[in-house]
Amino acid sequence: MDRIIPLEVTQPKIISFDAEGTLVTPQFSNSIWHEAIPALYARSRDISMAQAKQEVFDAYNEVGNQRKEWYDINYWFCRFRLGDPHKLLLQYEHEIEYYPEVHQVLHTLSQQYQLIVVSNSAREFLDLLMENIKQYFMRIISTISDFNSLKRAELFLEICHNMGTAPQEMIHIGDSWDFDFTIPQKAGIRAFYLDREGKIRGDNTIFHLGEVVSQLSI
Ligand SMILES: [Mg+2]
Repeated sequence: MDRIIPLEVTQPKIISFDAEGTLVTPQFSNSIWHEAIPALYARSRDISMAQAKQEVFDAYNEVGNQRKEWYDINYWFCRFRLGDPHKLLLQYEHEIEYYPEVHQVLHTLSQQYQLIVVSNSAREFLDLLMENIKQYFMRIISTISDFNSLKRAELFLEICHNMGTAPQEMIHIGDSWDFDFTIPQKAGIRAFYLDREGKIRGDNTIFHLGEVVSQLSI
């Protein structure tokens, strides 16, 4: 049975961030998955957009967000026989936007900590999402592309090992209760759950990335 390892208070060395919904708004992702892919699908089969959305969304739901295929744009382009996703992603690149506090928070934290990204997004996606903030990060990890896996406790431990750090010396922050909060905690990593809508109250829940800076008393 899974068990939460008690956290020791240790000075962190590495701060790990999720990407989508944490650093980058869902705008780009929503346009790709909800509009651009159905539009390509409709054109390739000569059907209406409404029909295409129905079929594409049914396929998304059939896979579900607990399977790695959900996050893998190559899988979907292959499954729908849409060719190479790269061109499409570039067409929508202008829709990538960061949350307003992101540059300032990353700038501040990067003075004192090593920053990394651990994301379930595929590399093709992630590289574009991170393009204008990559200078803050030591490593940008796509769990799907680099480890063929979604975020798991064992994977967080492997990342700590690769970084030469103990789990107690890492903090992870993200907007998925499972992938970014409970799973890293199972690896002994201190985690902050980012709830931008402010619905959940609790220890280690934050509404804004700037709160990490104050919690770490920088
Ligand atoms: Mg996220």
